[in-house]
Amino acid sequence: MAAMATVVRATVYDRRSPDWTALEAELTRLAWLHDHRDGGQLARLNEHGAASIDPALRQTIAMALEVAAATDGAFDPTVLPLTELWQFDSGGVLPPEPALAAATEQVAWQRVTLTASAAQLSEGTRLDLGAVAKGAVVDRLGDWLEARGIGVYLLEAGGDLLVAGQKPDRSPWRVWVRHPRDSAAPLTVLEVRPGDGRLGVVTSGDYERGLEVDGVRYHHILDPRTGYPAHPMVSVTVLAASAAAADAYATALFVLGPEQARQVARGSAVDAQLVWPADDGVGLQAWRTAGMEAVGGRLNLN
Ligand code: AMP
Ligand code: MG
Repeated sequence: MAAMATVVRATVYDRRSPDWTALEAELTRLAWLHDHRDGGQLARLNEHGAASIDPALRQTIAMALEVAAATDGAFDPTVLPLTELWQFDSGGVLPPEPALAAATEQVAWQRVTLTASAAQLSEGTRLDLGAVAKGAVVDRLGDWLEARGIGVYLLEAGGDLLVAGQKPDRSPWRVWVRHPRDSAAPLTVLEVRPGDGRLGVVTSGDYERGLEVDGVRYHHILDPRTGYPAHPMVSVTVLAASAAAADAYATALFVLGPEQARQVARGSAVDAQLVWPADDGVGLQAWRTAGMEAVGGRLNLN
């Protein structure tokens, strides 16, 4: 299935198969809700500053605001004024410094208000849910499958995974994490067992999207404080109870950098693997929470 400029894959382990056409229709609906471009609910909210919103979109925004608060705005769903300047979706441009400085003033998650069925934005505030949309959409597709009695499945949207239940052969779910500097090799392989529940597994990497200007590479994960790509992280993988939370935290920990990310990861309910360049500039170094160490295979840091 295609949505959100990526491929969405669903694998179910069940005697019955779901109605794939209905599942795809649900995917299309959810992707449209979370898209700030194509005239969907999010686009309308950005345009008018207030709108009633679908429960699924409300749930995503509420979770995004929680992670923004927990990470002191390192993850901030109101980054649209910045991401519009960088235009990473269409190849990217290096924006002029004053424009970036002005846009950082408009990025403030505290200016979003949610009520039971509506959202309101302060003047100039606009949402870009790109950092959580894929995770949020697979979470809701997981709800859709579970409401139809299917509890063992894998959902994937552009590298964002949601795995649920135990496979019939009782083997763990094996997840390849891409090496940030070698797309053909794994950085590591995780073996996860969500038991009766579900687990989100998401990686944010500096290799995903970006542009190069005068030999300098600018990637798509921005530090809302500066308006520029966050340094020095290159790859962050997060395990969380939902794919949306894993997605938001992967972006947040990437922005925070190794020191602060370690503190936030220790104080939160997520497990994380952080990878950044080695001090001598050759190769990479890594840090993992205990829970990540327990499921993570050998790391290839060369
Ligand atoms: P991800 O690939 O999940 O890390 O998400 C990256 C996307 O999220 C970017 O393409 C932007 O649209 C958006 N984004 C970039 N930086 C941030 C940030 N600090 N907080 C929230 N969203 C961001
Ligand atoms: Mg993310």
